[in-house]
Amino acid sequence: MPFSANSTSDRLSGAASRSKTVMSRNDIIEIGLKRLNDLGSHHICHVCISNSGSCCRNCVHLRDGLGCQKRNTSCTAWLCGFHKYFMYEMNFLDDWNAFWDQIPGQDYREDYTPELVSVTQPLPQADPAIARLGEALAADLQEIERSNIAIGFILTLREKLDKYMDQLLHSRLDYKKQLRLQRKIKSLTIGFSRFHRELNQYRETLADQGT
Ligand code: SF4
Ligand code: SF4
Repeated sequence: MPFSANSTSDRLSGAASRSKTVMSRNDIIEIGLKRLNDLGSHHICHVCISNSGSCCRNCVHLRDGLGCQKRNTSCTAWLCGFHKYFMYEMNFLDDWNAFWDQIPGQDYREDYTPELVSVTQPLPQADPAIARLGEALAADLQEIERSNIAIGFILTLREKLDKYMDQLLHSRLDYKKQLRLQRKIKSLTIGFSRFHRELNQYRETLADQGT
């Protein structure tokens, strides 16, 4: 991360079974980027980057006007607080983490991932309807940043979300702690009005469809 909307092919997206699949390192990166794009995550990155929040800042692999010159499994798998929260609400975060947990050799801004990796947990397709939720969240973030006097307000929000999301993921067996953290996250994201409206509609549609 971050990433742009013009990702490449998705040859392995139909892999729905839990049987072992051998994937190339490039395919792993491509499928990750494709999923992020399907989720509309680039809308969120766009707002973050335009407010000086890029996670690629000062990276030696970043070229002006050209973007990342050393795309790797680590940066593709990595999620900031916004994306953790977004995938969590989309019920996609566990699938995302389970997929990347299988990929060896992830490091900071580079990888030592082998050219071929055996994968048993596929990365499911994202519902195309989700993309508009990414747009809605991006619009909320832009509005929140615009209406706050403190410059970089959304970046502080991103870090708090990151902290609470990590705590939430690591306290699955502690129901009370989970509830406390869910309340904190709800309070932090109270300004995401467009996103929550879209999210409710999305969930209602899923419920009507019986999924
Ligand atoms: S910190 Fe998150 S939202 Fe910002 S550019 Fe990186 S991945 Fe995108
Ligand atoms: S390698 Fe550097 S430029 Fe490329 S995605 Fe990672 S942080 Fe960004």
